Amino acid sequence: MRKLVLLGGGYGNMRILLRLLPNNFPEDTTITLVDRTPHHSLKTEFYALAAGTTTDKDVRVDFPEHERLQLVYGEITKIDRDEKAVYLEDGQTIAYDDLVIGLGCEDNYHNVPGAEENTLSIQTIAKSRSTFEELLGLSPGSVVGIVGAGLSGIELASELRESRSDLKIKLFDRSPRILRDFPEKLSNYVKEWFVKNDVDVIANSNITKVEPNKLYNHEDVINVDAVVWTAGVQPVKIVRDMDVQKDRKGRPLVNQYFQLVDDENVSVVGDCASSDLPASAQLAEEQAERIVKVLKHRFKNEPLPEKMPEIKLKGFMGSLGKKQGFVHLADTTVTGRIARLMKSGLLWMYKRQNNG
Ligand SMILES: Cc1cc2nc3c(=O)[nH]c(=O)nc-3n(C[C@H](O)[C@H](O)[C@H](O)COP(=O)(O)OP(=O)(O)OC[C@H]3O[C@@H](n4cnc5c(N)ncnc54)[C@H](O)[C@@H]3O)c2cc1C
Repeated sequence: MRKLVLLGGGYGNMRILLRLLPNNFPEDTTITLVDRTPHHSLKTEFYALAAGTTTDKDVRVDFPEHERLQLVYGEITKIDRDEKAVYLEDGQTIAYDDLVIGLGCEDNYHNVPGAEENTLSIQTIAKSRSTFEELLGLSPGSVVGIVGAGLSGIELASELRESRSDLKIKLFDRSPRILRDFPEKLSNYVKEWFVKNDVDVIANSNITKVEPNKLYNHEDVINVDAVVWTAGVQPVKIVRDMDVQKDRKGRPLVNQYFQLVDDENVSVVGDCASSDLPASAQLAEEQAERIVKVLKHRFKNEPLPEKMPEIKLKGFMGSLGKKQGFVHLADTTVTGRIARLMKSGLLWMYKRQNNG
């Protein structure tokens, strides 16, 4: 039997399963999916889990079932390309013929002293659960610092505001205006929401140190009761530790087939694959579509297409609590309730497509 092994049941590898199952892969092939959690976690919703505005069950989807799909739950510790094997913490070894690495990313603390030790995270479902417990356990009127005003920081700040009206929320933004790389209309809309809902956005900030209950912004010391870090990501450590050519963010370089440049048996998908496009679930899914195309050729021992179709992202969406949001699609920006409904609709469709 030929063995296709998928590492990580995130957006990328879920799309691969969706396309290959039930019968778009050969009879002589088995698929093994390895993840530390027994479900596909909807990372795009972790901000709501951490803020306490959605339930744990609402941010996960069961993995599919198939007689030739083996689900292995455990912590992957090493990928050995010479042995064509993957090692798990519990001692299991999984051999592969074709491997797709889709292990995602983790926080990047940019060497800020104390950041890793003294901040909460929303990068994994387990960490989001702990963050939920910390945030919701805070006494009335506590101060919460959120470091990083990208999409996840914005969504967390707004959802937490709706969840706990008593908290003082300070959102630290490195740039002079929120969502600086997007149209001013969008920035102004988000800014106005924060003003109206009493979230303090601190522009031009630079967090230089974090101590228990203290954030250092430039030279200012800010007393806080909890801090959530949403200020950047990097590929997971196992991927950073791989002996492969990488980009400056530590992500393995891939060719147009999303294979490692020196290993056609290993593909990389999603947040841990090098790309010029911004990391997102949408990008992971588009890359997965191309990996499926390549795998189908490989299953039949056919030559690969000379040129793979270019990836074009459709845009992005964000929420400001449960009632307001924004959508930026094809250079058009939509804000308000309709945008929020569009985002909820997309989530509903995604879950439906994946049997959630
Ligand atoms: C708060 C937040 C909001 C976001 N909103 C959006 C959005 O609106 N739209 C959008 O497109 N993107 C959004 N993103 C980004 C999006 O979530 C990621 O780009 C996407 O999840 C990447 O998918 P992936 O397949 O690379 O990996 P992931 O979905 O991260 O999956 C990785 C999988 O690998 C598993 N894993 C990792 N390490 C190990 C290990 N050592 N052993 C075993 N299993 C392991 C994990 O359990 C996980 O299931 C958001 C991210 C965050 C944090």
